[in-house]
Amino acid sequence: MQIRYHCPTEGCVAIIEYEPLEKCGATMQCPRCRTEHAMRITDSMRERGMVDQCAICGCRELFIRKDFPQRLGVAIVIVFGAVAIYCFTFSVLAAWAVLAGAVLLDLLIYFWLGRVTTCYACRAEYRKCALNLAHEGFDLATSEKY
Ligand SMILES: [Zn+2]
Ligand SMILES: [Zn+2]
Repeated sequence: MQIRYHCPTEGCVAIIEYEPLEKCGATMQCPRCRTEHAMRITDSMRERGMVDQCAICGCRELFIRKDFPQRLGVAIVIVFGAVAIYCFTFSVLAAWAVLAGAVLLDLLIYFWLGRVTTCYACRAEYRKCALNLAHEGFDLATSEKY
């Protein structure tokens, strides 16, 4: 599995990506501030590739979300919207075809996307891991505890 997290050292803004997490040792060194921080790799992670607690902060509450870059979503809407408006000036049919294409693309992306397991406390992200059924979608009430 792959992990992506912000360096836990205060004042350090490094985003660290590491794969495979299963093979990582007890500590990891930040490439920016050179601090060694502890990694908590559980048996479940090593043996089943399933996250049961956050490797960075030890938090047991995580949520699962679609791996969709927000900017890409906005870009698709803007591009297709602009093309559709342009098409409306000469052919309503062409404009509808463009909009239908946007919907189709949206659906495709939706099914093709992977899922990311994210830590509520430190927002560390886990990809390419088995989904833990104990984790649910993002919950605002849970999030506010942190
Ligand atoms: Zn750092
Ligand atoms: Zn965490």
